[in-house]
Amino acid sequence: MPELPEVETVLSSLLPKIKGKKIKTVRVRHKDVVGWPETAIKFSQGLCGKKISGGFRRGKLLLFTLDEEGKLIFHLRMTGRLYYSDKIYQPRKHAHLVLDFSGGGTLIFEDTRRFGRVYLVKTGEEKYAGNLEKLGPEPLDPEFDLKAFSQALKQKKGRIKGLLLNQSFIAGLGNIYVDEILFRSQIHPETSAQNLEDRAICRIYTSMKEILNEAIAGRGTTFRDYRDGEGRAGDFQDLLKVYGREGEKCPYCSDYIERKKVAGRSSFFCPCCQKDDVNDSGSVRKR
Ligand SMILES: [Zn+2]
Repeated sequence: MPELPEVETVLSSLLPKIKGKKIKTVRVRHKDVVGWPETAIKFSQGLCGKKISGGFRRGKLLLFTLDEEGKLIFHLRMTGRLYYSDKIYQPRKHAHLVLDFSGGGTLIFEDTRRFGRVYLVKTGEEKYAGNLEKLGPEPLDPEFDLKAFSQALKQKKGRIKGLLLNQSFIAGLGNIYVDEILFRSQIHPETSAQNLEDRAICRIYTSMKEILNEAIAGRGTTFRDYRDGEGRAGDFQDLLKVYGREGEKCPYCSDYIERKKVAGRSSFFCPCCQKDDVNDSGSVRKR
């Protein structure tokens, strides 16, 4: 569930607390969460004594750089939570990885459904870190301009919703933000990417940057599980226009939000504002 804005929020709330800290003990409480190296023992041995020198986000992955060499990479997936505690920590049931720092403080990785993974990779081992090397461009990267987005879209077949969810096409988007982006762009989620006119592509591109930035400013969306690095819920759920709002009135017209399965995911949209042929009709309202 955590998408780009949530992962960005976890990172920005955690980094000031753990940057420069040395890992004193590594407690792997469920070995399945270790995606790399091959064993939890190798993971613990490799990480013990290392200092966190910095961190960044790529797609939905959190990457912490280590002082000597290598990276500690978290993929939160569905229900993963990563947070810091400066109290003496008694591991809870779903705390699968616990890192204690020299001089106090603990980093905890919890995951009720246990789809989340953690990777410890040296330089050259990045291919073992989940989908890291297969990720497409970052939507907020200034170099990812409209021209690059448009060219990439025009080479693709398939429906726009599925494409935007595809992490190798563009990194970091998930079901919530794709629905919000398509609503603001007035594009039906089932629209074929090849049928999109230039101005429709421009609306998607602009809405994508706007919504992601707004959601980061709102510290992400919390429905159930998501919390930031200090255990706080996000605020952006109140600002969602269509996601999770089936049967509610569209904020821009009198119609009701519908839900339909598109690209295997529940998709929320306004049948009036997001007509399937909206690109061809040319009737675009400014919002
Ligand atoms: Zn509407």
